[in-house]
Amino acid sequence: VPLGISQSSVSNEVAYEASVAPVIRRANATFIILCRNSEIEGVIQSVREVEDRFNRDFNYPYVFLNDEPFTDEFKTRISVISPSVMEFGVIPHDDWFQPSWIDEEKASAARKQMELDNVIYGGSVSYRNMCRFNSGFFFRHPLVQKYRYYWRVEPHVHFPCNIPLDPFLYMQDHNKTYGFTITLYEFESTIRTLWQTVQEYVSLYPEHIHPDNAMGFISADEGAHYNLCHFWSNFEIADMDFWRSDAYMTFFEFLDSKGGFYYERWGDAPVHSIAASLFLPQDAIHFFDEIGYQHIPFSHCTENAERWKNGRCSCDPKESFDYNGYSCLRQWEAVAGHR
Ligand code: GDP
Ligand code: MN
Repeated sequence: VPLGISQSSVSNEVAYEASVAPVIRRANATFIILCRNSEIEGVIQSVREVEDRFNRDFNYPYVFLNDEPFTDEFKTRISVISPSVMEFGVIPHDDWFQPSWIDEEKASAARKQMELDNVIYGGSVSYRNMCRFNSGFFFRHPLVQKYRYYWRVEPHVHFPCNIPLDPFLYMQDHNKTYGFTITLYEFESTIRTLWQTVQEYVSLYPEHIHPDNAMGFISADEGAHYNLCHFWSNFEIADMDFWRSDAYMTFFEFLDSKGGFYYERWGDAPVHSIAASLFLPQDAIHFFDEIGYQHIPFSHCTENAERWKNGRCSCDPKESFDYNGYSCLRQWEAVAGHR
């Protein structure tokens, strides 16, 4: 009799539990999904795939966050998708909405101009709230505080390969702090003054720059200019102790005080990526090649035939974004070495 099937119970619940391989060791980790009630279909689809390709064997918990309360319908529908613990949180008002000290006239003029320039989400306040929240607040939410590692998941993403390892334990056991699957160029028009602000921060706090940093990934001239490369943060597996560190917290507060989340449209992706590239040793950043991932319009599908086969991947490696002209994986490999 295999371990765990000691009773001759035929109830679904026991049968399911018994079919799960006993997990010997787990990390202190959670999935984090920021979403709206209206996105329930996309959230179900994403969680369904997370479960099928990975979490059915691990039962890591989920934290759902929203700027307004989740409806009972949302909670009921998502909770049947997985037996894992699921918690539903509302974001504290000031962690989400535009601060009162932001000059609204200046902010709305910037939004109008970006709309005229056809900048994606250029006219949106809520998108800016989201970017600022993901830059500086999610890891401080009361439901998230107890966890160290997280995996960010969005509605309507795809995981086309079986995930052959516990990525959280991989991070922990190999001293990894930030994990990604796709990297690309940012739209310059959303971050016009971000790099000069970073340079200002660096001159004020040189002690936070790691001697073995990955500056070469984000700059071709040792920091004189930003090359616009960033990790695509809709997928992120990372160690929140880093976001909670003095180096990152002072960085976020400094950026926030400049108002660029609202006067421009600074994204959490360049903010996270620049911080990780400057404050961490290069080898604390990890490319998860074996994790297939799709967020429209880009996808990552391993080009390693063995991994692709073992992962029973449903994606086409020829469609992988890795060496697309718009990808920054070349820049990453130039600093990290080829995978
Ligand atoms: P994109 O990936 O840059 O196109 O942006 P998304 O629209 O996918 O937003 C990023 C993440 O934030 C997704 O998980 C969304 O569900 C979530 N999100 C964006 N705006 C809001 C909002 O106003 N309220 C809530 N609750 N979630 C949001
Ligand atoms: Mn998205």
